[in-house]
Amino acid sequence: MTTLAKPSSPIQKPKNVPPANYNSPIFDELGFPSDAHNLYRQTVGSMLYAAELMGLPHRVQIILAQPKTEIMVHFPVKMDDGHYRLFKGYRVQHNNALGPYKGGLRFHHDVHLDDVKSLAFLMTMKCSLVGVPFGGGKGGVKVDPRKHSNGEMERIVRRFTTAIAHSIGPDYDIPAPDVGSNAQHMAWIADTYSFLADVGGKDPSAVITGKPVEYGGSLGREKATGQGVVDTLVEMLPELGLKPEQCTFSVLGFGNVGSWSGKIFQDKGAKMIAVADHTGFIKNDKGIDAQDLATYVAQKGGVAGYTKATAVSKEEFYKTKVDVFIPAALEQMIQEGEAKLINATVIAEGANAPTTPGGERILLERGVEVLPAILCNAGGVTVSYFEWVQNKTFHSWELDQVDRELNKHMVRAAGKVRDARRKYNCDLRTAAYIAACERLNHAYAARGIFP
Ligand code: GLU
Repeated sequence: MTTLAKPSSPIQKPKNVPPANYNSPIFDELGFPSDAHNLYRQTVGSMLYAAELMGLPHRVQIILAQPKTEIMVHFPVKMDDGHYRLFKGYRVQHNNALGPYKGGLRFHHDVHLDDVKSLAFLMTMKCSLVGVPFGGGKGGVKVDPRKHSNGEMERIVRRFTTAIAHSIGPDYDIPAPDVGSNAQHMAWIADTYSFLADVGGKDPSAVITGKPVEYGGSLGREKATGQGVVDTLVEMLPELGLKPEQCTFSVLGFGNVGSWSGKIFQDKGAKMIAVADHTGFIKNDKGIDAQDLATYVAQKGGVAGYTKATAVSKEEFYKTKVDVFIPAALEQMIQEGEAKLINATVIAEGANAPTTPGGERILLERGVEVLPAILCNAGGVTVSYFEWVQNKTFHSWELDQVDRELNKHMVRAAGKVRDARRKYNCDLRTAAYIAACERLNHAYAARGIFP
């Protein structure tokens, strides 16, 4: 078994925490943007702080600070009314030292190259930490899927696939769902790719994960990120003095990750009392049924108007006293202002990079524990790895096998973070980056750097 020894008493406040504006010498060396609010500078900065603390060799720091490849494409698509629109798409391949590039495709009207670079970087860290043989990548299309018919979305997705087909592959770069994309989109991508790629007669469906179960998908993949959030909570809460079955919690963002985290945590006995999304903020101290709310959101598109809870202000939502706060929406949502309001013991990052360094500094000073995204939301890519293994071996796993294997990976990763925290007397995010960088450093030490 992989469980590592746990400390018997709650963790003390760490000595080494990153400053709000960490300034690594690597920023100047590589010409990073000087804007402290830049997402890429913030995400890579957290890793570089960890790198300095652990003494990561300079050559590995500079390699990890930039992606290997950044692809930007523009492609025209015919709309239902006959006119053409030009779309912008991205695929960033951050690192493949541990295995093929891996990471989702975001379909969102406000996606930019720096976001995709940050998310690709986080995938490298996540895959390393959780012990799957993948590197990191990410992609996306600047599109609002809610504003397009099914037919238009199918043409956009297939045309985007055509634009990047020669840069991805089952052993090279394997996309997956992310914000705004779903299993149907993955099916169109796999189908389009199968017509375009020269795969020598081999089944090409392992080019993408998060597919529908009927077409090469894995049982348990849809809920996997939420399952991983709850597995992490169950593993980490007791040493923070909390019992999962007695916790209250709130959720920010009620899409795939937020709703599944809510449903699964609720099944453990925890009580959801506040939820927010792009449509509004709701609260009910007696509890909001996550399953019922998920059904409502699937019909209405958001939490606004849900009658079994009361609409509240943004401030009241953040100030609601809970044991666990789960941000499961977009990046940079917990800045200084939100961090001052949050009244929780633990933050479990279901989203990628939801907490800014400035926000985190305030949370840490206030004694709030932050379970970082590269640990907390690694369940999605872990089950993507299981899907890929099933595709490659022509096997299908039962759900209990998927859940059991996922739990093993999450528990092992949590153990590595816990060990690094103790060794370096640091916060959990820094500890997670140290654990992730250790594995990458060993790989670079073994491989060397060509030539
Ligand atoms: N988009 C998810 C993430 O950010 C999953 C990626 C994958 O399954 O490859 O972790």
